[in-house]
Amino acid sequence: SRIKVGLVFGGRSGEHEVSIISAQAIAKGLTTPANPDRYELIPFYIDKNGAWLGAEIAASILKTGQPHPPSETPPPNFWNFPPQASEVDVWFPILHGPNGEDGTVQGLFKLVQKPWVGSGVAASAVGMDKILMKAVFAAAGLEQVAYLPVNRSQIWSDPCVYSHLCDHIESTLGYPCFVKPANLGSSVGIAKVKTRDQLTTALDNAASYDTRIIVEAGVVAREVECAVLGNDRPQASVIGEITYTSEFYDYETKYTDGRANLIIPADLPTEVIEKIQAMSITAFNAIGAAGLARLDFFYVEKTGEILINEVNTLPGFTALSMYPQLWEKTGLAFPDLVHQLVQLALERGAV
Ligand code: ADP
Ligand code: MG
Ligand code: MG
Repeated sequence: SRIKVGLVFGGRSGEHEVSIISAQAIAKGLTTPANPDRYELIPFYIDKNGAWLGAEIAASILKTGQPHPPSETPPPNFWNFPPQASEVDVWFPILHGPNGEDGTVQGLFKLVQKPWVGSGVAASAVGMDKILMKAVFAAAGLEQVAYLPVNRSQIWSDPCVYSHLCDHIESTLGYPCFVKPANLGSSVGIAKVKTRDQLTTALDNAASYDTRIIVEAGVVAREVECAVLGNDRPQASVIGEITYTSEFYDYETKYTDGRANLIIPADLPTEVIEKIQAMSITAFNAIGAAGLARLDFFYVEKTGEILINEVNTLPGFTALSMYPQLWEKTGLAFPDLVHQLVQLALERGAV
């Protein structure tokens, strides 16, 4: 009989809309004739307030692509999940950002002892938290930009402490630097700053999103990405590049049609490609990822340096997104990719 896949999408994050489009693509991929009678889809929709809606509403959202008006009720609790949840054999969360990519939903699946697609609790949490992520990358010997972790209390303290913090950032990282909330994605809350005034504005803003903030030295580099697939023997895809004309790859550039270009495969020397692929596997293993991850890098053409920027454990998964496109160009078509992901989840079990 067919395996029942619980596809969870939407979610309480800034990437709610993207998640719906990713889910539409995955639903189609799992049930296309290329995967004949393999999977029965049971969709679940998490609205913008965090309420879980069952298969009927979820299926209609997959059809129309339109978000459901968020519930007015307080956050749901786990004893009123849609009843279909108990029928699921394997979960496929396609939630981007906080409350889905960060280990929270993964913990729920682990509690109910059902396998799920993608990384476990710790890898997801480390992948979402840029400060933890960089510490793990450093321990694995991966090169990255210079950075300073900042605690919100340093920003929300007396002016003297705050001013000392800014002096320290200026002397160690210089300008331009990037200020980021530690636990977000899609460039939300990120600023590129060139002056002391911009620095304090950016720190104040980042502090409104998160208790942990990271400040990084800015680099001038090409942005290249690699897709990894697998559990114990992860494989790396061809490399893709993102180009754009804005100051950096900000939210608007990411989500406005025509602002960013994906070039796959990227035009790079063979040794650079091989090094990025090797670093991708090292990074995947370093955080203990499973199933899938997209590894993002800065390639400083002038010096030949390759710096790891970040890992995304649940990368964008629309038909046009970098992750499935990288696999497509590596020789794995979309329906085969989603099939492999479910098989990897079943192979791994509920751990
Ligand atoms: P997110 O997880 O939100 O995607 P990133 O750390 O990838 O956050 O930053 C978003 C974008 O900001 C990057 O794709 C890049 O364009 C720019 N950026 C981030 N950090 C740096 C840096 N240290 N130097 C240069 N550009 C950066
Ligand atoms: Mg990210
Ligand atoms: Mg990024």
